[in-house]
Amino acid sequence: MTRITYNAPIVEMQGDEMTRILWDYIKEILIEPYVELNVDYYDLGLINRDKTDDSVTVKAAEAIKKYGVGVKCATITPNEQRVKEYSLKKMWLSPNATIRAALDGTVFRAPIICEGITPYIPTWTKPITIARHAYGDVYKNCEIATDSGAKAELVVTNVNGKKTTGLIANADGAAVFQGIHNTDKSIISFARACFNYALSTSQDVWFATKDTISKTYDGRFKNLFAEIFEKEYANKFSRAGINYEYTLIDDSVARVIKSNGGFIWALKNYDGDVMSDMVATAYGSLAMMTSVLVSPDGKFEYEAAHGTVTRHYYKHLKGEETSTNPVATIFAWTGALGKRGELEGNGELCAFAKRLEAACLKAISGGFLTGDLVSLFRRDGIEPRVLESREFLLKIAEFM
Ligand code: NAD
Repeated sequence: MTRITYNAPIVEMQGDEMTRILWDYIKEILIEPYVELNVDYYDLGLINRDKTDDSVTVKAAEAIKKYGVGVKCATITPNEQRVKEYSLKKMWLSPNATIRAALDGTVFRAPIICEGITPYIPTWTKPITIARHAYGDVYKNCEIATDSGAKAELVVTNVNGKKTTGLIANADGAAVFQGIHNTDKSIISFARACFNYALSTSQDVWFATKDTISKTYDGRFKNLFAEIFEKEYANKFSRAGINYEYTLIDDSVARVIKSNGGFIWALKNYDGDVMSDMVATAYGSLAMMTSVLVSPDGKFEYEAAHGTVTRHYYKHLKGEETSTNPVATIFAWTGALGKRGELEGNGELCAFAKRLEAACLKAISGGFLTGDLVSLFRRDGIEPRVLESREFLLKIAEFM
């Protein structure tokens, strides 16, 4: 059989622990027999990040900017325990944070929907993609607590020295105060990333804030989204047959719960943090969530939303079998290959990506599962069978 080829490389980023093991199995069993991979390879495993003083992560981010499409395995974000475990020179930053900062990107997370795995909200028959703004608000705040009465003011000093002061509160007794910010640049990048991703996936965008209460702060988000949409996207959206809608966050939550899914839910930083966990839980399993980082100028980095599955890795090291779910990692590969196919007008490559995704879903809906999915599986007349990690990949290959 001749393998499918393509022109520009995909940036491949290897990772850590159990997902590192699965990564090689996935390539060997499900991709390389069909596709002649052309990759620009970076080993983002913690050992190599430490060896290269993390310059490998910066190089990988640069490569994504150059080639436009990357696929990343889950990686360890070091904490004190990892510094000891791996005798690290330093507690290196999260690679995802480094790459996100380099690409100025927005993360889109979407569940993989599969017959047999019923969401807790059964009407959610299509995926809800959460777009979370990943800059500012309470994540970059200034907080002060007092144990006696206090007056708090917000003072903003312009670059030309002009001061604007606003009263936050005159508190009688002990109190807490908080200052937060965001920037037009970051909000505009977020808006563009959402609209570009909507065009690339043919889905509507729903954006929600609380601008009736926060008239200036949330109002700025609402107005910038409206302005960018009108100026740069309204015509493209109407040609693509998709819509942009702004609603209040409370109204939006009610509509999302009653919806069938199939849209992008764009949210401010905190709302996105909370709602993405709610959506992931409601759809069933973290191991069935995809994640893609999109830059405002249209560069794409695909990965699974979960981590390196440490507990399974320690079992694997002891020579024990694991039943680790590879589906989100496979979908990271199909996302990247499909995007490369789309950019190059390579129909064969796009069709391969779709075929591999369908094979995963056929295996699961046929009752062939990894351990994490067993309690979620319901299909009349089919008794689920739990397979080991490699065995499950071989089963998917049978459905190709
Ligand atoms: P995790 O996602 O690895 O695991 C969380 C829970 O979900 C565990 O109970 C795990 O067994 C289960 N789980 C997750 N994916 C699974 C899969 N594919 N199959 C079966 N079960 C699965 O997160 P964690 O335990 O919080 O973190 C482990 C490591 O991963 C940490 O070092 C952390 O820094 C890293 N991490 C990386 C990323 C990333 O690279 N994007 C994201 C999160 C965590």
